Amino acid sequence: MSVRVRFAPSPTGFLHIGGARTALFNWLYARHTGGQFILRIEDTDTARNTQAAVDVILNGLRWLGLDWDEGPLTSDATGPSHGGRGPYFQSQRKDIYQRRVEALLSRGLAYEHDGAVKFKMTREPVLIDDLIVGHVRRELTDREALDPDFVIVRSDGQPVFHFVNVVDDLEMGITHVIRGEDHLSNTAKHITLFRAFDVSPPKYAHIPLILNADGSKMSKRDQGASLATYMDEGYLPEAVVNYLVLLGWSPKDNREILSIPELIERFDLPQVLRHNARFDMAKLQWMNGEYMRTLPDDRFYELCVHTFARAGVDTNRFPLPYVKAALDTCKGKLKTFSELPGYAGFYFNEVTQFDAAAAQKDFTPENKPRLQRLREAYAALPEFKAAPLEACLKSVAAELGVKAGVLVHPVRLACTGKTAGPSLYHLLEVLGREKSLARLDAALARM
Ligand code: GLU
Repeated sequence: MSVRVRFAPSPTGFLHIGGARTALFNWLYARHTGGQFILRIEDTDTARNTQAAVDVILNGLRWLGLDWDEGPLTSDATGPSHGGRGPYFQSQRKDIYQRRVEALLSRGLAYEHDGAVKFKMTREPVLIDDLIVGHVRRELTDREALDPDFVIVRSDGQPVFHFVNVVDDLEMGITHVIRGEDHLSNTAKHITLFRAFDVSPPKYAHIPLILNADGSKMSKRDQGASLATYMDEGYLPEAVVNYLVLLGWSPKDNREILSIPELIERFDLPQVLRHNARFDMAKLQWMNGEYMRTLPDDRFYELCVHTFARAGVDTNRFPLPYVKAALDTCKGKLKTFSELPGYAGFYFNEVTQFDAAAAQKDFTPENKPRLQRLREAYAALPEFKAAPLEACLKSVAAELGVKAGVLVHPVRLACTGKTAGPSLYHLLEVLGREKSLARLDAALARM
C-alpha cells in the first residue's frame, strides 16, 4: 500500500518551527517512500480563519520547498495553488462531516445531547502502537470515567477537531499520522472513532517536542519559535531544513550536513529520536554559515543584493564588478544574510558614523601624523591592490617604529566606521584609491 501522509495545520497566523518540522518529517517520509504528501488546512475554527493566516503556512512551506501533491483544483493562479492544486480546507468539506455524523447517529454510535452530538467512547483501555513512542496503553482518566463520551458536533453545528481530523484522515486514505507528541493524548479518541467507522486506524508516529535550550517548553514568544523569523532574517531554507531534520532525527552515521536528496534517501521513522529535542540557535547559525560558505556565486550575489535592497541599499547604483568584488570579501564571513548590511554596508554608503569607543582610541592626535604618512604612501602606490597595500602599510609602520596594528585600526575605522569586517587590504582594494583616500582624509580632519 502506498504511503499517504498529511500536514494538518490550523491557521493561527503563525508557523511554529515545531509545525515546520512536522511538515518536513511528513514530506520526507512521503518522498522517501514514493508516497503522497497532502496539505490539509484545519480551519473549522472560523473565528481565527483568515486568508492571511493561511498564507503564513503556505509561504512557509513554499520557502522550505515542501511541495504538496494533491488537493482540489483551484483556478486562482496567484492564490494558494500548487501546480494548480490547492490544499484541502476543512471549511470546504462540511457535507462530508455531516454525512459521517449521520452515519454514526443512525448506527447508535453517537447521540444528541443538549443540541450537541456526542460520540460513545469506549470504556475499555485503548492500545496505541506508536512507531516512535512504542506501546502506549491509554485508560480513561478519572474525570473522563465519569462521562467518557465526548462532543463531536457542538450545539452551534460546528464539528469538533477530533471528529473532522479523523474523518479527513479516513476519507483521504492517510496511512501514517506523523504529528507532534502533544497529540498523543488525543489518539485513543481518534482510534476509537476510526473503529466506529469500521476502518482500521492509520499508523501513528508521534514526534517528541522541541524544547528551549534550557529545557523549558517552547512557546510562541520564545526566540526562534517562528519560522517567519528565519525567512525575514535571511537564513537559507536549505540550512533551516537541514537543522530542523536533526531536531529529533539522526542518521546512523551522525553526519550533520545533509542535502535534500540525501535526506530523502535516508529519512525513515525508526530513526526518529525518542527524547525531546533542544533548540540550539548557535548551531542553526553555524549550519546556516556552512551553507552560505558553499553557496554557488550567483545565488550568493543574488541573495546579498536582495538583503541589501530590503535594508534600503540599492546596490544596482554601482557597477556590477564592484558589487561582486565587494561581496566576495564577505564570503565565508557571515552566519546569516541579515548580518550583511552591518558588515559590508560601507561599500555602498558613505561612512558618517564611527564606532565611538574605537574612535576615541584610534583617532588620536598622536595617530594623526602616522595616518597622514600612510595616506601619502597610499596615494603614491603604483597599484592599489591588496598585496602592495599590505606591504606598504607594514613598511610605513616599520619606518615609524610602531606595530602594524597602530595603523591598521584607524585605517579600518576610517574606511568602514567599524572595528571588524572584511580583510582590510582587500576591502581597500575594492573601495579603490579615490574612495579610500577620501575616507582617510575625512578621518584625519576629525583627529
Ligand atoms: N490541526 C492540528 C494541529 O495543528 C492537527 C493535528 C494532527 O496532525 O492530527 O495541531
